[in-house]
Amino acid sequence: MGRGLQPGTLMYSGVGAAIGALAVLFLPQTMPGNNAPNSFGAVLKPATSVIVPDDLDISALIAASRDATAATIKTWSKEFTLRAGDTLSDLLSRAGLERPQAFQIIEAIRTITNPRRLQAGQKFTLSFVAEGDDAPQTLRGLAFELDASHTVAVDRDDTGAYAARSVLAETHDETLRFDGTIDSSLFATAQNLGVPLDVMAEMVRLYSYDVDFQRDIRPGDKFSVMFDRTVTTDGRTVRTNGIKFASMTLSGSPLKLYAFTDADGDTDFYNEKGEGVRKALMRTPINGARLTSGFGLRRHPILGYSKMHQGIDFGAATGTPILAAGDGVIEKRGPNGGYGNYIRIRHHSGYSTAYAHMSRFASGLQVGRRVKQGQVIGYVGTTGRSTGPHLHFEILRNSRQVNPLTVKMPASEKLSGKMMTAFNQSRAMIEQQFAELGAPKKFAAATISQDTVVK
Ligand SMILES: [Zn+2]
Repeated sequence: MGRGLQPGTLMYSGVGAAIGALAVLFLPQTMPGNNAPNSFGAVLKPATSVIVPDDLDISALIAASRDATAATIKTWSKEFTLRAGDTLSDLLSRAGLERPQAFQIIEAIRTITNPRRLQAGQKFTLSFVAEGDDAPQTLRGLAFELDASHTVAVDRDDTGAYAARSVLAETHDETLRFDGTIDSSLFATAQNLGVPLDVMAEMVRLYSYDVDFQRDIRPGDKFSVMFDRTVTTDGRTVRTNGIKFASMTLSGSPLKLYAFTDADGDTDFYNEKGEGVRKALMRTPINGARLTSGFGLRRHPILGYSKMHQGIDFGAATGTPILAAGDGVIEKRGPNGGYGNYIRIRHHSGYSTAYAHMSRFASGLQVGRRVKQGQVIGYVGTTGRSTGPHLHFEILRNSRQVNPLTVKMPASEKLSGKMMTAFNQSRAMIEQQFAELGAPKKFAAATISQDTVVK
């Protein structure tokens, strides 16, 4: 409703006075479905004197009246921002909507996303229509960006009900190459170049097995990175799709890493020789913890005499996840004397790792179960002989504890046979693409999706 001719609007324009009378005569018949709230009584009021010429061309006048009316229908859009502490309902009321209408709109949005999850700062474009300068405004629709690739649009249908739909932005995939020379820090240089933060974070993670980022990076060092991203037509990154190639030249020869997906479908990174960059074991199987006690002889805090500390301790809050240091098989799991709740994992090449004082174990980790590097196996606690929440971590080589901070880490397995052949082919393609991307940064823009309505 509300989009058709509305007699009330005709009174204010030049021909309007003449048509006003006609409106009374013809418009109710010629404008089916016009059930605007303005009553006819209100319409008639301004049309006090009407002169109807003798040679009146009625059909032309009706046509003219349509134009005149179209000109007086006002539509406009206005942006509203969700303020901290605001609900969507507050925003809609700020936009002048009545509660029942706001409720309808929120219910429509709920079919796409939970309105409570909308964050402060989220922008909404509301579009209104008013059929004449003094007519009340009606909300025609509302739109907001759900994320870089989805816009939620709420539209008013012919019955006056609101329905929401999620509109997928047109996107394509492209490969980007960035080359940088480090001036102050790797991150600052990357940021100046416009390398996305998650790409940099992945790069740092990949090189962290070989590079000490605190000490090894010097001004003048060079890096390159090539990665895929999905981007909207107007240039906004929807997501980055992983690094394909990276190179770091730290005072000398470049360290090159190539992404490669093996027969199991696992994507990992390899150097030119097909050796996995990921080491078999992590030295720090916990995130955001600080080393509180090193390996070696020390005065035991509880026993009071000097004792060999067979592992290293990481101070962390109770409940902090503990990660498997490498791929392996659970060898022991349960209370283990002074160790408290304890897990030991057997890895390849005679290595195993042990984790003590856990508050609890991750579920489903019976002895004999396989675990992946980085998988959560339990949570920090202070069970057993312990003065406070921490992880006691040991690396054992042929069943003897070694210093986790200095032991030479076993490399993950090298590609061989068919996999090595496949890797060499993939590496050649990556190198060719990297070379082609030399000057311009864009490559292989292919449209993968059209405007699509998803629901
Ligand atoms: Zn310890």
